[in-house]
Amino acid sequence: MVNSCDVVVIGAGFAGVTAARDLGAEGHSVVLLEARDRVGGRTFRDEVLGREVELGGTYVHWTQPHVWRELQRHDIPLAAPLDVDRVYWLADGTVHSGSRTEYDNAVAPVAARFFADARARFPRPFDVTAPVTGGIEKETVGDRIDSLDLSAYDRDVLDGALATMVHSYDEQGIEQMFLWAATTFGDWGAFLETAGHWPIEGGTRRLMQAMLGESKADLRLSTPVDAIEDDGSGVVVTTRAGERIRARSAVVALPLNTLADVTITPELDGPVRRMIERKHPMRTAKIWARVRGEIEPFHAFAPVGRNPVNCAKVEYRHDGDTLVVCFASDASAIGAEDREGVQAALRTFVPGIDVLATAGHDWVGDEFSRGAWVHHRPGSLTGAVPRMRRAHGRIHFAGGDIARLGVGGIEGALETGAGAARRVAAALAEGRY
Ligand SMILES: Cc1cc2nc3c(=O)[nH]c(=O)nc-3n(C[C@H](O)[C@H](O)[C@H](O)COP(=O)(O)OP(=O)(O)OC[C@H]3O[C@@H](n4cnc5c(N)ncnc54)[C@H](O)[C@@H]3O)c2cc1C
Repeated sequence: MVNSCDVVVIGAGFAGVTAARDLGAEGHSVVLLEARDRVGGRTFRDEVLGREVELGGTYVHWTQPHVWRELQRHDIPLAAPLDVDRVYWLADGTVHSGSRTEYDNAVAPVAARFFADARARFPRPFDVTAPVTGGIEKETVGDRIDSLDLSAYDRDVLDGALATMVHSYDEQGIEQMFLWAATTFGDWGAFLETAGHWPIEGGTRRLMQAMLGESKADLRLSTPVDAIEDDGSGVVVTTRAGERIRARSAVVALPLNTLADVTITPELDGPVRRMIERKHPMRTAKIWARVRGEIEPFHAFAPVGRNPVNCAKVEYRHDGDTLVVCFASDASAIGAEDREGVQAALRTFVPGIDVLATAGHDWVGDEFSRGAWVHHRPGSLTGAVPRMRRAHGRIHFAGGDIARLGVGGIEGALETGAGAARRVAAALAEGRY
């Protein structure tokens, strides 16, 4: 086993695999260290409930430049989602039901008010280091909802529409939602399509395997890293097992919420350290339910705290049954092992629905993620996050959690992995490392 190389990449999610592949393609020797016994990180395609499903990140879009480039490069198409034209929404104490158009008509006016100034706040969404934030860096999602002075019904409609992306209204910054909306011209509906509609044919694993297939990196699974030190002449990475690997540079592609478990020397600067110590608040659970029979495809929404399942959507037909994907904004309220709880929560929308089995991965309890996709606290996205994207000596950070445009998603992981590889390759080529 080689214990010195040009670059150590830590974390084999999409960010780390992209960085490792791109650096290898530049002719550099790369060791890729991954804590789990699998690659993919917060994307995890696995067989449960009788078929392969995505337990983590799933949906991508042709408007995401890095994703689309990788899909084209490997000739991987998007999968056509099932047509869903029945929507249930819990608002003002009642479950409402309507067509997709009727639901959209209920949400669109309130969403337009909520996101009214999203584009104006981020006129250059690709450059969040110079946003016209005008105070929104202090604002929470809850502050923004309160400021709209909505009727109880409208408030619940909006709350339900946002709930998949909200764990705690008081902890999550409005900046990230505004940035997301700004990337789709301020149109939240368009953002939702980019973020939550189109799975990859064959799944995220297919793309991951295609990218790994191009990588020359020395991949070491089941190798958690404990410490990363830039000692002035190189980087020393120490694994939990005590192995030390020396390199000219390191790319750290770990989830934000796990970074407090890794000792980084020299110390990171104050705002970045505080962001890492506080962690981001996303505690969403994604749960799959196998439901008896081929039921009418539906999409359902409930406000945070009003139903343990906040969003549910029929995703597949399988062997005469139906697979429903559920999102719970608070993973402590319901878990994938709680079949009866999921059934009761789904019966809020569809009385009599018969849940045969449930499955999922506990992203919050998993020590190598400690949360779902990122949602930054007020101020982090335009404060500590851009600082973290700068080189820390010979140490570079990557990951969907600190992306510019694709923050919180697979696109952001690819974007930052490619960016870190470019910066490290340039420094190596110029003899700076
Ligand atoms: C339930 C859920 C649903 C999602 N849905 C979508 C979606 O539909 N579309 C979308 O675009 N995004 C979605 N996301 C977000 C998306 O999955 C992530 O943003 C993206 O996969 C992050 O990639 P990454 O490489 O930055 O981090 P990760 O994928 O988390 O990779 C980091 C890697 O670091 C490893 N690691 C952690 N600690 C250590 C250590 N000490 N030493 C070594 N290795 C370590 C981890 O095991 C992991 O493999 C979802 C996420 C979740 C959890």
